[in-house]
Amino acid sequence: MSRVINFSPGPATLPLSVLEEVRDELIDFRGSGMSLLEHSHRGKDYEAVHNAANADLRELLSIPDTHTVLWMQGGATGQFAFVPMSFLGGGVADYVNTGSWSKKAFESAKFYGEPRWAGTGKEGDKFVRAPMTLDLSADAKYVHLTSNATIMGIQYDAFPDVGDKPLVADMSSDLLWKPLDVSKFALIYAGAQKNLGPAGVTLVIARKDFIEQGAKDFPEIFQYRYIAENDSLQNTPPTFAIYMVGKVLKWVKANGGAAGMEARNRKKGELLYGLIDAHPEFFRCPVEQGSRSVMNAVFRLPTEELEAQFLAETKAAGMVNLKGHRSVGGVRVSMYNAMEPENVAKLVEFMDAFRKKHG
Ligand SMILES: *Cc1c(COP(=O)(O)O)cnc(C)c1O
Repeated sequence: MSRVINFSPGPATLPLSVLEEVRDELIDFRGSGMSLLEHSHRGKDYEAVHNAANADLRELLSIPDTHTVLWMQGGATGQFAFVPMSFLGGGVADYVNTGSWSKKAFESAKFYGEPRWAGTGKEGDKFVRAPMTLDLSADAKYVHLTSNATIMGIQYDAFPDVGDKPLVADMSSDLLWKPLDVSKFALIYAGAQKNLGPAGVTLVIARKDFIEQGAKDFPEIFQYRYIAENDSLQNTPPTFAIYMVGKVLKWVKANGGAAGMEARNRKKGELLYGLIDAHPEFFRCPVEQGSRSVMNAVFRLPTEELEAQFLAETKAAGMVNLKGHRSVGGVRVSMYNAMEPENVAKLVEFMDAFRKKHG
């Protein structure tokens, strides 16, 4: 077996032990004589998987009783629409701009009201920070931010104070990277395929009284309330994706929980940014200290030719998917929870040797 080191921004690398367990259970799920793929979402085998995933997520993030967990479809991009559909109602909402994903969320909200920018991380022509000071509007229905800007490599470590405004966060690329005070949020959403599992399921953690206030003038399937009432079983959920997220959650539990993930992730970030900061003449990270993402580190090399050479050589060495997003160029190192610290160490060693040769 030869597996590469996959630094993909998403769908992203999964823990090998999870893939092996899934393989072993694929044909005959726990002695039931059929694959989980073939089980009814109303049967007791799947019910156990569903309930365990819920319980484990609640435990790992200490989700309070005020909040409910939903397993939805349509991706984070679907949430860009579901949120304003439910909560904007022709009114104003405050959005925080940290690049491409927040812009998409903003554009989608225009169909249902008047989103406005309450803060930006942009300086000149680059996004450089996760803004902590926001210019909030008194009548905003909610405040929306992206906890980790996957393309720009910008992450909130602590969140801005929004007073009593409902805070909505797109946590697609960092939910569960560390412990989180869920009570601060009215609604959190995350496509699973970056930090939590495979593509196909979108996690939502929402305050029950908030979703109760959501609009009702469109089909129930798009209403958070209805999905909550039915424990995400109003129609056939993506059972296999939920099963795999459940396995990843068990893996997180076995590796120290959310605090264990934070220690792992900070270690990887220190390794990578440590080298970048030690050689600013060779590695240029556009993002300010304090806003640099430990999930997706972005940087440039002295020339585009060197960048192309770096990508070719790392690929030949079994380290793949390091190319920066087409809108920003350069190199992007995605190192979500499942990325082993020793693999980041291997890349950093390679980066240093490359610098010595070409610097
Ligand atoms: C990947 C990503 C999205 C889009 O997710 P889909 O599940 O493909 O819709 C949205 N927001 C952020 C922050 C992302 O990283």
